[in-house]
Amino acid sequence: MAVTFDDVAAAHERIRAVARRTPVLTSATIDALTGARVHFKCENFQRMGAFKFRGAYNALAQLSAEQKEKGVVAFSSGNHAQAVALSGKLLGVPAVIVMPTDAPKVKLAATRGYGAEVILYDAHNEDRQKIAEQLAAERGLTLIPPFDHPHIAAGQGTAAKELIEDAGPFDLLLVPCGGGGLLSGCAVAARQLSPQCRVIGVEPAAGDDGARSFRSKQLETIGTPDTIADGARTASLGPNVTFPLILKHVDGFLTVTDEELLQSMFFLWERMKIVVEPTGALAACALLTKKLDAKGMKVGVVISGGNVDLAWAAARLGAR
Ligand SMILES: *Cc1c(COP(=O)(O)O)cnc(C)c1O
Repeated sequence: MAVTFDDVAAAHERIRAVARRTPVLTSATIDALTGARVHFKCENFQRMGAFKFRGAYNALAQLSAEQKEKGVVAFSSGNHAQAVALSGKLLGVPAVIVMPTDAPKVKLAATRGYGAEVILYDAHNEDRQKIAEQLAAERGLTLIPPFDHPHIAAGQGTAAKELIEDAGPFDLLLVPCGGGGLLSGCAVAARQLSPQCRVIGVEPAAGDDGARSFRSKQLETIGTPDTIADGARTASLGPNVTFPLILKHVDGFLTVTDEELLQSMFFLWERMKIVVEPTGALAACALLTKKLDAKGMKVGVVISGGNVDLAWAAARLGAR
């Protein structure tokens, strides 16, 4: 299922009145450090704290009247849950979210706060996909996948569309990658609006399935990666939508370690005064740790989210 620039543009019209047009920030310190002119698209300021609102709202808005009435189901312990819950609330679509019993309390509370019904499961003994599919069958709910869906990828691509409209074109665009919804959507937008731009996905080193799949041109699946970048703990890219789009439109991949990610998170907090979650810092980290030479280039960097438990992060800082 291909996603075209027209799909991204249509998604943008759909979400325009409800999504925030997030700021694009620059930093003289980071420009001096990298020798590049860097523009950060700050999706940590998006509603519910991450870009995932864009795709979820774009998907829910396109359901039929009957599907909207019956409701949706998603399984996620993270930002996709909150994105579906908030989109459901705004569109009057009942949302059921399947979450693990050990999900962070703040995330459970936020998801319930948006009016979603939360169904808890035991992550060690139960299969969340099975639970969600069973709920979908019993109650006639529509399953909203986190990345491998054309409406999700098109919605996420609006982040790059805004970034290029506001500050582009670019020589280089760096984008965090988990299942590849954000990366594939942004690559589709960049191909159209900034054709000379190289688009690079950034993954945690422990979860480099995307980089491997990109090299081998075969979808590679790994065990759940052990990384602090919880938004990128995906086993593989999406076989139907995101992997084909990435093969077609993306120019390469980079990886960063958890230790580098922590350092970059604190750097962004201290120097740019912005709260960024580990997954949200992936692309910035690749630039800050000079995984590639960006000297003289105009660079776009997507900061994808800001939902981090500060007590946890402070403890990690203290432990170093
Ligand atoms: C989900 C998520 C990602 C990864 O997005 P994919 O579309 O799965 O590649 C990156 N950053 C944050 C903050 C996320 O929530």
